[in-house]
This record gives sequence, structure tokens and C-alpha cells, in this order.
Amino acid sequence: KTNLLEVTDLRVNFKVRGGEVQAVRGVNFSIKPGEAVAIVGESGCGKSVTAQSIMKLLPSPPATISGSIRFKGEEIVTKEEKQMEAIRGQEIGMIFQDPMTSLNPTLTIGTQITEVLVKHQKISSRQAKVKAIELLHLVGIPNPETRFGQYPHQFSGGMRQRAMIAIALACNPALLIADEPTTALDVTIQAQIMRVLKDLQVRLGTSIILITHDLGVVADVCDRVIVMYAGKVVETGTKWEIFGNPQHPYTRGLLRSMPRLDQPKDEPLIPIFGSPPDLIKPPLGCSFCARCDEAMRVCLDNDPELVAVGANSDSEHAAACWLTHSYAQGEKSI
Ligand code: SF4
Ligand code: MG
Repeated sequence: KTNLLEVTDLRVNFKVRGGEVQAVRGVNFSIKPGEAVAIVGESGCGKSVTAQSIMKLLPSPPATISGSIRFKGEEIVTKEEKQMEAIRGQEIGMIFQDPMTSLNPTLTIGTQITEVLVKHQKISSRQAKVKAIELLHLVGIPNPETRFGQYPHQFSGGMRQRAMIAIALACNPALLIADEPTTALDVTIQAQIMRVLKDLQVRLGTSIILITHDLGVVADVCDRVIVMYAGKVVETGTKWEIFGNPQHPYTRGLLRSMPRLDQPKDEPLIPIFGSPPDLIKPPLGCSFCARCDEAMRVCLDNDPELVAVGANSDSEHAAACWLTHSYAQGEKSI
């Protein structure tokens, strides 16, 4: 299958007082039609900036973007705002952490969905109402006919997020980007929203990019995981490879810090100590070096590239760590 989205050597810098933050530093990945991919990492790792670059929602200046983002073969990086509006409305949908900021408090949920439908699908308002109720049903909102006429404040947090997903789906997007969609919600609701996303991927064939700091929420929804650290991809693979055979010490750290269903009561979670490097002046060597308990001398001055893990050439499992580079075999830890 040809790729729906191809991101090549994406770099995003922000002008700030005292210099330029290199928020995204040469990111490569692609998404196939119908695929659900998670981008995981701590806050400030560049995952949201990557998502906003795809939507072209970054203010320029202060942001400067270079590299290539191809969506259905078309270059996004050089698109005019006018063309971008059409893509955002019809091809790529986005949902955010806090639906209250994206919902209009003065309009009913039904009106907000039908507006999108009428604008993008060129259907009558009567048809739009039928479709909107279908969409509310599709995202698991009970009594959609009643809910159609209610305002955002009459919805709970979880129901608002479902309504946001319904609005994003109203333009029938090929790609849905969800940036921390469940962070503000409690665990049970989180799981429900994740099921809704998975359901949409399976039933509608929508590709999904799920942006999250929580590796725990990706397993149910995503086929593939991209782990970002300090503006770079440090590991990528299928969810089986990432959960079952993590290669990068940062990925292993994320897994150790994440609560598991089978977590023994007496086994504490182990947080990753320290904080990410200053991206105004990124380190010369591996960006994880200062926090890595497996660091070697080679890591100090040499930044490892993302290379394939293992001999299986069909696998897309890759890591950016000297431990997996044969070149560094025999290096001692420091
Ligand atoms: Fe640790 Fe070195 Fe691997 Fe970086 S390259 S994650 S410092 S072992
Ligand atoms: Mg973010």
C-alpha cells in the first residue's frame, strides 16, 4: 500500500528569547491508509509540534519548518493557508486534550456537527441532522436525538470528547490526529474513548495518529509506536516489538514507569530520573545520555542514528542507541 502520510527529515525551530529551540530535529515516519500509530514521549519531546506541523497549525514566525510532509502525495510544508483550510476541514481531523476549548459553548452540539456536514459534504440541513445523529450514535453517545439539541455544558467530560470526535468525523477525514485526547479524563472514560477510536479505525478505515505521554493507553488502539525523545525518534516498531522487545533505554524506562494490569502490589513503578536536555543547545552526543544508566563513552560525543533492530529486514523495528549499533560492540559502560 502506498503511504497516506510521509514525513521526511522534519525540523521545527522556535525563536525564543535567548535563541532558538530545536523542537523537532529530523523526524522521519510514514502512515499507511487505515493504520493507527502512536507517537509517545514526555512533554516537550516534540510530539505535539510534529502533529501541529502536519496540520500546519504552527505560527510562523516564531516557528520555522523544514523537511517534507507529504499527505496523499501532496507537499504540506509549502501549502498556502487557503489550501490548508480545505485539507484540515476535509482530509485531516484533529482532536485535542480539552474539548471545551474547541467546542462553541453558545451552540448546541447538533448545530456544531451539522455546520461541518453542510459545509463539507454539501448536503441539506435535514440530511445533515440525520447524519449528525448517526455520528453521535457512532461515537457511543446514548440518546443521540436528545443530545443533538443540548449544549456543551450539559455534557460530561467524556461525552464532550466523544462529541469532539463526532465533529472531527463529520468531514469524513482520511486521517484523524488525536493529541492527548484522554489526559483530562479518568481511567475508565479514557478506556472508553480509546475503544471509540479503535472502533472508528476498524469500521471506517480512518488512519489515526495518537499523541500521548502515556504508553499505557496505546496498546489497545495502535498497530505501531513511535517513541520520541528530545525532538527525535529514538525507537519505532510494532506495538509487539515495543512492548515485548524494547531496545532503547528510554523506551524501557517508559515501560518501567507505566502501571501494568498485572502489576504486583509490592513492585513499585520506577520513574525516569532527571529531565530532558535544553533544546536551545542540544547535546552533541546521545540526548538521553545524562539520564541513561547504560551510557558508554561513545554516547557522550556521538549521536546514534536510527537503525534497524535485528536481522529481519521485513520488520520496521528500529532504535537510535549505540547498544544496538554493531559498531559500538565492546564499548564499556561508564
Ligand atoms: Fe544510553 Fe548510549 Fe543508548 Fe544513548 S546511545 S540511550 S546514552 S546507551
Ligand atoms: Mg503536547
